[in-house]
Amino acid sequence: MTTVGILGGGQLARMMALAGAPLGLRFLVMDTSAEACAGQFAPMVVGDYRDEQALGEFASRVDVATFDFENVPAESARWLADRVPVFPNPRALAIAQDRLAEKTLFRDLGIPVPAFATVDSREELEAAIAEVGAPSILKTRRLGYDGKGQFRIRVAADAQAAWEALGPQAASVGLILEAFVPFERELSVVAARARDGGFVAWPLTENWHVDGVLSASLAPAAVEGGLARTAIEHARRLAEAMDYVGVFALELFCRDGGLLANELAPRVHNSGHWTIEGSETSQFENHLRAVLGLPLGDTRMVGHACMLNWIGEMPDPAMLLAQAGGHWHDYGKTSRPGRKVGHATLRAPTPEGLVAALESTGRALGRGGQVDPVVARLRGA
Ligand code: ATP
Ligand code: MG
Ligand code: MG
Repeated sequence: MTTVGILGGGQLARMMALAGAPLGLRFLVMDTSAEACAGQFAPMVVGDYRDEQALGEFASRVDVATFDFENVPAESARWLADRVPVFPNPRALAIAQDRLAEKTLFRDLGIPVPAFATVDSREELEAAIAEVGAPSILKTRRLGYDGKGQFRIRVAADAQAAWEALGPQAASVGLILEAFVPFERELSVVAARARDGGFVAWPLTENWHVDGVLSASLAPAAVEGGLARTAIEHARRLAEAMDYVGVFALELFCRDGGLLANELAPRVHNSGHWTIEGSETSQFENHLRAVLGLPLGDTRMVGHACMLNWIGEMPDPAMLLAQAGGHWHDYGKTSRPGRKVGHATLRAPTPEGLVAALESTGRALGRGGQVDPVVARLRGA
């Protein structure tokens, strides 16, 4: 019996544990909170990732370790990797934890990125704005997620407000200024690389964010084949450069028909949740297969899929479950504003069928605003 250890016990660990059950896997989750929702399905070690006693207990009870959370301290990942196999490797994790290291790697590999500059002081912020221009976004290099740790600079005079907002964090997590991209679409590649170097990617996904948080994902994204091939080629090049093993997501902006890379998530990703019902093999199963050295599963789609995130609180499931292709995921979390508490996936054999399902669901749940952009895209906008 193989036990997979997961650092981080949120919904991603929870869905990994659910996907691993048919494979006969056991799981052990480590999290800093005993309330972490994966704990409803897997035994837990509760403790700080820097606590060698807790991490040592975790290491002694697992055959292989992985992450549901990229902000596990890189030195803790390295300490663990001296004791058990860890995938993805700690170097890949460290790169993806730091927007500067990540963007530098993208650029070195010839993957286009928005203009960027590091910012360590108030003076450097002025210099960065002069170099990158405005509008731009000041971001923390490390520890940001769901759009947290970001400040939009509309005009150069916003520098003072940006520094007041994020300057206090410059010493601890570092800052980076990035050009604002007036993108036409946001896309992601969700892909998996096996221990033997085998690589698979799911069809491209289009994503819509509200206030920096993912709201809806549509797959396959309606983009021309050349663009999709380029995006997947970028993902493959990155995975090979990092000797990455497991599932990851590459977030991209599409502008004037070209692609600019935003960030890489070194784990299963919210924009790949549709793969559970929408593809032959889910991202969660393929992540486990990769980490365990098993053959990767086929990533072909089963119909057209749209995932809707539930933020703050869960809606009533009844209307959505009444749809033929309606699937519900409640993460078992308590409600809290801005928190990802669940999602739903609607799947249909044709784009027209998906439009009909989205429209009736949007109406029934009062979520018209959430489904409208997806419906517009499916109608060919
Ligand atoms: P995640 O939850 O995806 O990890 P995050 O906090 O790491 O989010 P980003 O992905 O960098 O942050 O930004 C969140 C969203 O903000 C993006 O998906 C995009 O909609 C918008 N955004 C970020 N950077 C830019 C940019 N340079 N130009 C335009 N929009 C941007
Ligand atoms: Mg991120
Ligand atoms: Mg992101």
